[in-house]
Amino acid sequence: MGTAGDTAAQGSLPGYSTASAAAQRRLELDAAALPTPASAAEHARALSREPHVAGTPAQARTRDYVIERMRAWGLDTEVRAYDVWMPHPTSVRVWRVSPDARELSLAEGPVDEDSSSRLTEVLPVAGYGGTGDVTAEVVYVNYGLIEDYTTLDSLGVSVRGKIAIARYGRSFRGIKAREAERRGAIALLVYSDPQDDGYVRGDVYPAGPMRPSHGVQRGSFFNGLGDPTTPGVPSVRGVQRIDPSAAGVARIPIVPISHGNATELLRDVRGKAIPQSWQGGLPFRYHVGPGPVTARVAVATDSPTAPYKTIWNTFGIIRGSELPDEMVIIGAHRDAWGPGAGDNVSGTTSVLEAARALGALAKRGMRPKRTVVFATWDAEEWGLVGSTEYVEDDSLRLMRGAVAYLNQDVAASGPNFGGGGSPSLRATLRSVAGSVDDPSGKGSVYDVWRHAASIPDSAEPSMGDPGGGSDFAGFYNHLGIPHADWGFGGPGGVYHSAYDSRYWMETFGDPGYRYHAAAARLGIAMMLRLANADILPYDYLEFARTMRRYLPPIEKTLRDRKWGTSTAVLGTAIDRMERSAAAFAATRDSALGRTLPAAPRRAANAALMRVERSLTRPEGLRTRPWVRGLVYAADEDNGYATIALPSVSEAIRSGDASLAQREVDDLARRFDAASAALEDARRALAR
Ligand SMILES: [Zn+2]
Repeated sequence: MGTAGDTAAQGSLPGYSTASAAAQRRLELDAAALPTPASAAEHARALSREPHVAGTPAQARTRDYVIERMRAWGLDTEVRAYDVWMPHPTSVRVWRVSPDARELSLAEGPVDEDSSSRLTEVLPVAGYGGTGDVTAEVVYVNYGLIEDYTTLDSLGVSVRGKIAIARYGRSFRGIKAREAERRGAIALLVYSDPQDDGYVRGDVYPAGPMRPSHGVQRGSFFNGLGDPTTPGVPSVRGVQRIDPSAAGVARIPIVPISHGNATELLRDVRGKAIPQSWQGGLPFRYHVGPGPVTARVAVATDSPTAPYKTIWNTFGIIRGSELPDEMVIIGAHRDAWGPGAGDNVSGTTSVLEAARALGALAKRGMRPKRTVVFATWDAEEWGLVGSTEYVEDDSLRLMRGAVAYLNQDVAASGPNFGGGGSPSLRATLRSVAGSVDDPSGKGSVYDVWRHAASIPDSAEPSMGDPGGGSDFAGFYNHLGIPHADWGFGGPGGVYHSAYDSRYWMETFGDPGYRYHAAAARLGIAMMLRLANADILPYDYLEFARTMRRYLPPIEKTLRDRKWGTSTAVLGTAIDRMERSAAAFAATRDSALGRTLPAAPRRAANAALMRVERSLTRPEGLRTRPWVRGLVYAADEDNGYATIALPSVSEAIRSGDASLAQREVDDLARRFDAASAALEDARRALAR
């Protein structure tokens, strides 16, 4: 087996002429050699030195670190600040009131080996949870999903006036808050069950990577995106804000707790027998209640005195040598719930190492043709706040010129590669993964990824569909900018904990920081591939074929409902897109075989950038106007699951036959617009 570089040297590079492909390959290999584990370790240690929650002085220090580095590497830099509504908890307390009265110790506490765990610990924050001081009986609600409440109904148990206790998992935590509040719960406790990321899965920290009995998962309970008081518009000076009480944030107090503390509450709950699937990993039989255990939950925030916080996005910019208005953007969120070594110092480090490499090339006169932007976002952990305010602030420029957005969220916390994004960029990500050596020494990242997927020779490793949940949402789901992301993962139970720390990373996640460096190498190759292409290398053939696969299950649902509606017109439109994509690819490849003047190249690229923008609509989804993209969206009832073709899927779910047909017709028209953009691109290059 040769090195990964040799493998990549075979075959053509889509979007590059034969003449430029060889030079591009050399450039990518040279640039990808620049990130080093030692340099990655330096950034990672500096940035994970202390907890850096959005809106705190520590987070201003990470801003300064990133900006100083990028400046030193010769990049242009910019900081964009926004004032956002983001109350911080000032006091979070939970008591067991009966059978015996005592306050629970909510802190995760210091661990001898882990020096950052001895620093002042971030409170067990439920971001955008409510406030109050309530006492009531406890009801166990399993994962707190809609179907769990249906089960409770069938058992004749209600959470009205009670304190609901749910386990993490199966949904975004905001859904758990929404459903508990809807049903009248007066407080919500959410705990990490050992079955999900604790001792049932492996040894616990600090002996192993999993969550210990006192470990807590902090997190946002907000189901929206961005500053809750400025939906759809940037939180700039003078902006008209809506009242926080109308912003869709939880009103009841919410506290994330450890399974050690959950034990103190759940062990003595009695009442109805649970369905077997509700049993978790704690060493006693679970019951639903209500009671007889009674608890008291009290949360106070700085909302009365300082509800607004300043957040800072940072940008490092290398202006394109030929097409400065076209941009390739890579970004990572810079805030965390603790030291954040994995989430997301690892992503920030990947972006920094990529910036350092491309800065070094630029100093040697090798600037990319298109502008490259290295962003770090603030307040992602509270609801993608920094990136959302930014895309709302800069949407016109992004719509016109953004070629792609690449996201790095937990870039390295183990050895297992995973990737995702728009189907238009998956071929490029696979190609780039084939050109970077895997740190395991067992071939390229692509080779190791394929091998782990154990799939037939004809298949490719599966990738994630981007419905939301990280900073790509503003770019992709709001604006229709093609997106890709990747990272190396592994077993762990320190997500949003004080133990997501340097010690955890250097002992379990990525000892030696080789996967941090590999993530950066992938970023560099992705950026250069997209920034220097003669013709943008989107793969709309794979895109159309992926879309086609979503239709049979939708068609079957429609048949079962006997509505007389059909996806036929949509199927025809997707077929047309597939034919247009094939015709474009053939024309592109033959055009790249001869000398192409700048004007047709520009025209073709401009048309290509319209393809996925065509699959958005200004009024957004009926349920969520901010989500304009009609390809993927987060499931409204789950938050983590992704639904494909959401305008159609949600119309069917709503039970409205004529709406479903209207949405099918609407989406078919938009696929036709995407095909028309591909036709424009083809005509621009046709002789
Ligand atoms: Zn993250």
